[in-house]
Amino acid sequence: MPTLTPEKLAEFQAAFDEAQSKAGEDMVRAVRKLFSNYIARVESIVLQVAARPGTSISLPETQAVLADMIQALELAGRDDLIREFQTKLAEVAGESLRYYDYIRPGSGTLGGISADTLNALGRDFVSELELGIDQKLVRPAASLIRDSMLTATTREDAVREITNAIESGGVLRRDGQEFTQANIEVFVQDSERRFARHTRTLKADELGLNIVVFTNPLDSKTAEQCRFLATTAKYGVPGFWYKDEFTTDLHPQLKDPPLVVGGHWNCRGTVDFVDLEYAISQGFRPRRGDSSAEG
Ligand SMILES: [Zn+2]
Repeated sequence: MPTLTPEKLAEFQAAFDEAQSKAGEDMVRAVRKLFSNYIARVESIVLQVAARPGTSISLPETQAVLADMIQALELAGRDDLIREFQTKLAEVAGESLRYYDYIRPGSGTLGGISADTLNALGRDFVSELELGIDQKLVRPAASLIRDSMLTATTREDAVREITNAIESGGVLRRDGQEFTQANIEVFVQDSERRFARHTRTLKADELGLNIVVFTNPLDSKTAEQCRFLATTAKYGVPGFWYKDEFTTDLHPQLKDPPLVVGGHWNCRGTVDFVDLEYAISQGFRPRRGDSSAEG
């Protein structure tokens, strides 16, 4: 029977980090592809405006263009992106559970976590992604186009203004670079980590594991609450906690459940679950009444 050691746990964490960052790169690339498809479609919609006869642009024409822009996001592959996002999150979740094999042989799979549960978790993250795309890309682009069409004196002026904004890196960067670098990478990373922590927590419930091991890189970027969670040795081992007490009550800076969020938005902290037997082997002193070793 495999035995969990701190070295093994660290090894699984490293493998997980690698899988996660690879999945993250794929997801960022997929988002970027959606952006460039979308921008190409918006450009072609704008060029159609230029080709229409007449000097002035009417309000109904402006509204029709805005409706086309909303549809352009679907045509640019939004649904494919969402499917890809869900697939990658499920891969990340699967990878995050592998070390459980060292605690309960054969348990390091999604197992009792239903596809419905995973899809529901995935949908939460995807709806945040859609909200982000809407706020960062579709709305600014739509308002730029609306304003240009309504205020420009000629059709050519409106088209020139919009085309300039696209080419000079205004709201619509050709590759969506500004948004992907500043927001999407962080968003993807945080989604993956939260998704992994969430599935691990579900799995820990299923396996009856009630000891949390919180690990966080300790450097100048480490938040106060993460340092606290990773270094406090309430039961004799730094970072080891009972699952039922691993809540926002532990530190005033914890705003969301640390089992899923870690210390804060975009936290690097890892939440692993182990059994009491392993914890004791590391020097953990159980609280009164919890001293009987499990399975
Ligand atoms: Zn943190």
